Amino acid sequence: ILHNTIQDLKGKVRVFVRIRPSWADAQRTAVKSDTDLHMECRGCGLSMSHCTLIDPHPSAASGTQHVFKFDRVFGPVDSQETVFEEVALFVQSALHGYNTCVIAYGQTGAGKTFTMHGGRGKEAGIVRRAAQKIVETAQVMKATGQFYNLSFALSHDDVGPTGWEYSFTCNYVEIYNEQVRDLLASGAPKVNMRIIGSEVLTKDFHEKTFSSVDEVDLIVSSAEKQRSVAATNMNETSSRSHSVFILKLQGVHVETKTKLNGCLYLCDLAGSERIAKSGATGDRLKEAQNINKSLSTLTDVLRQLHEKADHIRYRDSKLTILLQPCFTCSGKSLMIVNVAPEPENERETLNSLKFAAKVC
Ligand code: ADP
Ligand code: MG
Repeated sequence: ILHNTIQDLKGKVRVFVRIRPSWADAQRTAVKSDTDLHMECRGCGLSMSHCTLIDPHPSAASGTQHVFKFDRVFGPVDSQETVFEEVALFVQSALHGYNTCVIAYGQTGAGKTFTMHGGRGKEAGIVRRAAQKIVETAQVMKATGQFYNLSFALSHDDVGPTGWEYSFTCNYVEIYNEQVRDLLASGAPKVNMRIIGSEVLTKDFHEKTFSSVDEVDLIVSSAEKQRSVAATNMNETSSRSHSVFILKLQGVHVETKTKLNGCLYLCDLAGSERIAKSGATGDRLKEAQNINKSLSTLTDVLRQLHEKADHIRYRDSKLTILLQPCFTCSGKSLMIVNVAPEPENERETLNSLKFAAKVC
């Protein structure tokens, strides 16, 4: 099946757009109803429906109005839960042995970290919700021996001990300046990713096992502390690095002993804004170029996939080397493009939307 569908799957990148609430709306939430906010994003004036975004300002030179179509558009009133509902089935395909990734893209301040990590309770982001969903679904699969699918109810009665048993591990790494740092190792040491054949050896990264979402919370929060300490020591900010949480699972069928491996990469990318060219010299310039290297290689790769190019330049950056399995025939990728609605962000918003429209 996989071989027959290579051509179909290659290049199929799903793209969602999420517009965060504007600061003005946050201060005046009572002024407009949810529906009005949904349809008209104050400031930038973007209007949206389920999949379409319209930028009402014709560009000065050409008089063109931009209309974009995406797989899904989320507006300022869409909750973390609503976003996850659309992502849930996608992330669960890791249980079927797929390599999947969810990538948050966008300028600094547009809501990437909120979308991926979020806060507590209802504010929880995709990392926590995905881990929880996968652990829960695995429990059902163990009880029933069936693969989870669309029509399969989670409340299925326990029919005995035969079925798929899963074990879970994770890695958490950061890519800064084309160097990979292991956030699960104390002091976040730099690691070299080894590439053997077409496979990246994530075995070189520290690995933690988990069996509940609370354990994932602990792992992520201690890694985040580590990340911010390392960043402060080196005078960096997280907006300039990419972080990748890697959830790995191995399934074994109790009777047949059939094994399968699946992987979910959850990426919070560096800000996509153009770093001002003037004034950047030395280390600062090298850093800017390297950040651009991982991001620009990612954008190139997504575009090449979309165009079904013969040669896809994964090897040009650390990030794309790491994510390569998600872009092949046993992979699935989803990009969430976060945009900010304030008028001063209009340029970056348009850049992000134009880029996103090119890859979906
Ligand atoms: P980024 O990671 O892209 O730089 P953040 O996720 O840090 O941006 O978001 C910037 C600020 O906006 C944060 O204070 C965050 O909590 C808030 N924010 C982002 N998206 C939303 C949203 N959908 N709803 C409420 N607050 C949000
Ligand atoms: Mg962030």
